[in-house]
Amino acid sequence: ANANVVIVGGGTGGATAAKYLKLADPSINITLIEKNPSYYTCYMSNEVLSGERTLDSLQFGYDALKKRGITVVQAEVTAIDATARVVKTTAGNFSYDRCIVAPGIDYRYETVAGYSATVAEQIPHAWKAGPQTTLLRSQLEAMPNGGTFVLVAPPNPYRCPPAPYERASQVANYFKKYKPNSKVIILDPKTSFTKQPLFEEAWMKLYGYGSNNALIEWVAGADKGVVSLDAATKSVTTVGGQTLSAGVLNLIPAQKAGALAFTAGLTDASGWCPVGFASFESTLYENIHVIGDACIANPLPKSGFAANSEAKACALAVAALLNGREPGRTSFSNGCYSIVGDGYAMSIVALYRLSADRQIIETIPNSGGTSPIAASDEDHLIDVQYAYSWYNNFTRDVFL
Ligand code: FAD
Repeated sequence: ANANVVIVGGGTGGATAAKYLKLADPSINITLIEKNPSYYTCYMSNEVLSGERTLDSLQFGYDALKKRGITVVQAEVTAIDATARVVKTTAGNFSYDRCIVAPGIDYRYETVAGYSATVAEQIPHAWKAGPQTTLLRSQLEAMPNGGTFVLVAPPNPYRCPPAPYERASQVANYFKKYKPNSKVIILDPKTSFTKQPLFEEAWMKLYGYGSNNALIEWVAGADKGVVSLDAATKSVTTVGGQTLSAGVLNLIPAQKAGALAFTAGLTDASGWCPVGFASFESTLYENIHVIGDACIANPLPKSGFAANSEAKACALAVAALLNGREPGRTSFSNGCYSIVGDGYAMSIVALYRLSADRQIIETIPNSGGTSPIAASDEDHLIDVQYAYSWYNNFTRDVFL
């Protein structure tokens, strides 16, 4: 009989895995289970906040994957029975030979007193693209000129390391044009962040960073972590006892693997899923593979690009294993553009590979890099075009 593979989560990782597994071995029966009827990409969602793009432009459905012969089921996965090899859902049970799990992230609301999933419908994190993205945009539109947007950045590790700083830049760009007396304050428990010299250079050029009239201020340090929230006054209090009120508050909390990873027993004490890198098989349960943000794949970041790269490696490995072959030794890549102003973007690229003993993922020496400091205006402009081109190519690769 043909092998059955059930894929949990039709986001960036899960959709890519479904497509590439079908390409690797068309004889495998693939069932992709996703709770939502369509997917909104987080990538480019910061442009919705500045009004450059609509949420609808980020929406992708599953028709193309269905046409490829993948069974797509809209249902919520409630449990995985690893012994019986059955995925349990709100639309029935699905047996598997191998299961690929890509549930994304969830939030550690308990780290901020006064925050919860319910409060987040009013004080959005907007860290999954969707209704909260639209809500945050409408709050920014309603905020009077002269107001303060407070963005609370999360502690490591979290989904998309540059995204909070890209978001701050996008909102500053909106303020610069429409509400010039307003200000963005980033409250950050970390003392450094990815591409920091490039962001700071851009902020100096575009938003007066470091001056008295700066549109962006970065307030950072361990004592700046947020411990409590008062939703009624839109204020947060830090470890250091400082209270800050916002016109618009965007609290991005600490993160963990998506809830299903916990229900299925796939997480360790870190709150993320340990895997072996030869096939992304869980080290806790056989025949279950975990990819994307939910898995521990350092030094790969938690990004869509990395989730796509992991998904391809996992799909090839699963096809090999189901055909009685050893998985090959794969390489991985990550690339990320940050659009920080009109005609101004910068990028980072890195290449990785499975180590010779297949135990770790290592960065390939002398590969990758970032945009240079003091790049020309033209270079930054070209990076914007590359960013849009990447988005179009990447979403095709995942969903079409
Ligand atoms: P997701 O894409 O979140 O997919 C998880 C899916 O599983 C979801 O569709 C969810 O509905 C489904 N699911 C979860 N639980 C269940 C269940 N129990 N039953 C059924 N379905 C379930 N990455 C980049 O590479 N480049 C960028 O420029 C970039 N920009 C970003 C900007 C922002 C503001 C943010 C927040 C993120 C950005 N990212 C970017 C990161 C990227 O979005 C994630 O890393 C990526 O989506 C991870 O893919 P995933 O498959 O692990 O999770």
